[in-house]
Amino acid sequence: MNIIVLWLLVTPLFFALGWIAGRIDMKTVIRQAKQLPKRLYDGIDALIDNRSGIAAENIRDIITQEPQLTELHLSLGKLYRNRGENDIAIKSHTKLLNSQFLLSTDAKDKVRLELAKDYQQAGLVDRAEGLLLKLIDSELYSHKAQEQLLNIYQQDKNWKDAIVTAKKLASSDYSFHTEVAQFNCELAQETLIKSDHVLATEYIHKALEINRKCVRANILLGELYYNQEDYAQALSTWQSIEKQNFLYIPMVIEKIFESYIKLNRLKEGLTLLRGYITLYPQLNLCDVMYQKLINYESPTDILEYLRITMKNHPNAKAASKIIDIHLNNMNHNLSTDTKPDAEIIKNILRNYNDKLARFRCGRCNFKAQTFFWQCPACYEWESISPISYE
Ligand SMILES: [Zn+2]
Repeated sequence: MNIIVLWLLVTPLFFALGWIAGRIDMKTVIRQAKQLPKRLYDGIDALIDNRSGIAAENIRDIITQEPQLTELHLSLGKLYRNRGENDIAIKSHTKLLNSQFLLSTDAKDKVRLELAKDYQQAGLVDRAEGLLLKLIDSELYSHKAQEQLLNIYQQDKNWKDAIVTAKKLASSDYSFHTEVAQFNCELAQETLIKSDHVLATEYIHKALEINRKCVRANILLGELYYNQEDYAQALSTWQSIEKQNFLYIPMVIEKIFESYIKLNRLKEGLTLLRGYITLYPQLNLCDVMYQKLINYESPTDILEYLRITMKNHPNAKAASKIIDIHLNNMNHNLSTDTKPDAEIIKNILRNYNDKLARFRCGRCNFKAQTFFWQCPACYEWESISPISYE
C-alpha cells in the first residue's frame, strides 16, 4: 500500500521535473532565436556601413554559438578573404571543412572551392591547384573549379594547361576561341624568343585555326617572315590584318612600309600609306606619317594629311606636328616674334601627349601608356583598343 502511495507521489514529480526541464530548454531556444537575428542584423548593418571588421566579429560570435550554421560559416571565410585576411580565411574554411555539421560531399566541395580561392589569394597557388584538381569530378562544382584553374594557369603563364582547360570549358554559350588563340600566341612568342621558328609557326597556325580573326597571330607571323628576310610574305601577312580588324593597322604600319622599302617598292608603300591615312583618319597615323612621308612628300601635303587627322580625331600629338611643320617650313612667313611662341606651344603639346594614358580597357576602363593584349586589371583578352583614345 505504501509503495503505491509512493508511486502516486513520485510519478507526478517526474512529470513536473520533465516539464520544468523542457521549459528551461525552450527558454534557451527562444532566447537564442531572438538573439540570432539581432546579431545577424547587426552584422549586415555593419557590412552596409563598410565596417566589415565589426560584421566579421558579429558573424564569428554567432557561429561559435551555432556551429551548425555552415552556410554562414562559409560566408564568414569569404568575408575574411575580401578583407585581405587570407590566413584567417584559410583557418576558418579549413575548420568548416572538418566540421561534424558538414555532412554531404557537395557541401564539402563548396567549401573546398572557397578554400582554393583563399589559397590562390594568399599566393599558395600549388595548394589551390591541388584542391581544384580534386574538384574536377565534382558533380556541382567541376565547372567553377575549372574556371578557377584557368585563372591560375593564366596567372602562372602556364599556357599549355590553360589551352586544355579552356577547351574543356568551351560550350555553345562561350567558345573561348579568343582566349585559346591568344594562349597559342603567347606560346608562339615564347618559342620565337628561343628562335624555334618551326614550333612558333605551328602555334601561330593553331591560333589562326581556332580564331581566324586573331590579329596577333598575323602580327607574329609577319615578324617571323620579316626576320627570315621573306619580305613579300611578311608584307602580305601584315596587310591581311586590314581585313581582320583595321583598328590594328597602327601596330603594323611601320613594318609594312619597311617591307616595301626592302622590296624596292617604295612607290607602292607610299600609295598604301596615303590610302590608309585617307581611309582611316581615326587611326591617328601621324607618327608614321611624319617619320616616313616627310622624306617623300611636300610639307604642304603632309600638312593636309595632319589636318584630315585633326578633323576626325583632334589630338595633341597631331597639333604639335602641325606647328612643327610651320616652324620648319622655310617658305612659311612665321615672324621672328611668333616662332619662339610656336616652339613653346609645340613642346607643351608634345609633353602633354607623352604623359597621356593612350590605351583604355573597354571592359574595366583601365588606362595605360602601353598596349596590352590582356588587360592587367580585369584579365580580359583583347579588351584594350589598339588605337589611342586621346
Ligand atoms: Zn580591363
